[in-house]
Amino acid sequence: MCRHFAYLGPETPLASLLLDPPHSLYRQSWSPSDMRGGGSVNADGFGMGWYTQGEPVRYRRSVPIWADENLPGLAASIRSTAVVAAVRNGTVGMPLMESAAGPFQHQRWLFSHNGLVRGWPGSMAKLAEGLPVTDLLTMDATVDSALLWALIVNRLELGPAEAVASVVREVEAAAPGSRLNVLLTDGEQLVATTWTHSLWVKQTDDSVTVSSEPWSTGDGWRELPDRTLLTATRYSCSTTPMEGRQ
Ligand code: GLN
Repeated sequence: MCRHFAYLGPETPLASLLLDPPHSLYRQSWSPSDMRGGGSVNADGFGMGWYTQGEPVRYRRSVPIWADENLPGLAASIRSTAVVAAVRNGTVGMPLMESAAGPFQHQRWLFSHNGLVRGWPGSMAKLAEGLPVTDLLTMDATVDSALLWALIVNRLELGPAEAVASVVREVEAAAPGSRLNVLLTDGEQLVATTWTHSLWVKQTDDSVTVSSEPWSTGDGWRELPDRTLLTATRYSCSTTPMEGRQ
């Protein structure tokens, strides 16, 4: 399973969020502590997305995060009020390439998926048929995460929470046992799910941080129950159980 991370709050250097904490996303790439049988290291690329004057910018690479010598300097010099990042452990059979690493982007939205779709790609044929052909032809990569993203983008007019929740429901129905842990933000609002994997939240008066694994012990981190939908801004955070909770 990949590890992913999102932050909304006061302007902060990316390095303070992604590299510096004792159990940061950077460290989780080679020393994750809760992979639940989904691999052992997250070395199949990484990506980070942030907002500059309200517009998303991304930096993705196909190399392990620790192998990018430019990253520490870059992350120390970029500051943002909203960040999404992921380190990838590619699912067996999926391509290893830069464009298969999160975050995925559509207009102001950034998206990350931790998990896998069971029975890929056959199990998704029916749902994919409902998408405009151009959306399928312009997917970033032929990976389950990119198709999930295409399905969600296609429903964003329902609102981000409903778009995510309905896609999770339908993908689970078509591909039971899938792992559908996602993060979605436009830089102001954040939607996240736990669907068979962990997500921890840390809230302060003016920030919310979510991460597959907490970056330290204590420090106000709390774990969300499985099958939860989280919606947040930097000032508020609420969670609701999702249908099909076990
Ligand atoms: N299935 C996705 C991929 O192959 C996500 C992988 C993961 O969460 N480990 O990229």
